[in-house]
Amino acid sequence: MTAPLAVPPRVLTVAGSDSGGGAGIQADLKTMLALGTHGMSVLTAVTAQNSLGVQGAWELPAEAVRAQYRSVVDDIGVQAVKTGMLASAVLVDTVAGLLAETDAPVVVDPVGISKHGDALLAAEALDSVRERLLPVATVATPNLDEVTQLTGLTVTDEPGMRRAAAAMLSYGPRWVVVKGGHLPGEAVDLLTDGSEEHWLRAPRHDNRHTHGTGCTLASAIACGLARGQDVPTAVRAAKDYVTGAIAAGFALGGGIGPVDHGW
Ligand code: PLP
Repeated sequence: MTAPLAVPPRVLTVAGSDSGGGAGIQADLKTMLALGTHGMSVLTAVTAQNSLGVQGAWELPAEAVRAQYRSVVDDIGVQAVKTGMLASAVLVDTVAGLLAETDAPVVVDPVGISKHGDALLAAEALDSVRERLLPVATVATPNLDEVTQLTGLTVTDEPGMRRAAAAMLSYGPRWVVVKGGHLPGEAVDLLTDGSEEHWLRAPRHDNRHTHGTGCTLASAIACGLARGQDVPTAVRAAKDYVTGAIAAGFALGGGIGPVDHGW
């Protein structure tokens, strides 16, 4: 008799599609596969996108988002959830309402604007992100532009990252990772829950092909949490994974290429 195959941890991304395959649910599912988990997706929006930018975006009806979520949760079950592009206040409210009911850890990547400057979240959705989504987050992973959008703070150095983390924690996530990758020098992130503080440092790779970095980090954290890791362990491992993926990022099309998941 053959032994039953082990079931991998189940991880769900609630995010938008990037037709170019570099960010969004495509990056999430690649990360989940690379890290030995079963990836599932609730699609929130479809983007027409390539290495040059976002040429179009269409959000799905709230009903379609709710139905996808119910299908996955009611039958398969999830051990961690990651959220990415949520497009509008209606979808932020819908997703926050669904996640308020789950016991699974939730990683919120508060996606606002793409590297090319394309808006992936409507300005009027910021209140919902602060008031409804961040309170259900186990970990929130803003970059410095998203910190500015959400808190009004402009961050230029490590003391500024500490102030940004405190401002983000005031909205209710249990932990925050303030990603300092946009600052010059080492790639420094600050992970804190308001009492513990972990400064995560990695050498900067001189590679402009970094499309999908944020999605990849948040998904990798969710994979660690689905395995039962504590937050600092999951975030450290995710940072290592994304550092390798950035080092291996490659040119594709005429613009910014994706990070690589096969390194
Ligand atoms: N497109 C989608 C669907 C995304 O979810 C994201 C980021 O979360 C992006 C594009 C932006 O990716 P980047 O800023 O790495 O170019």
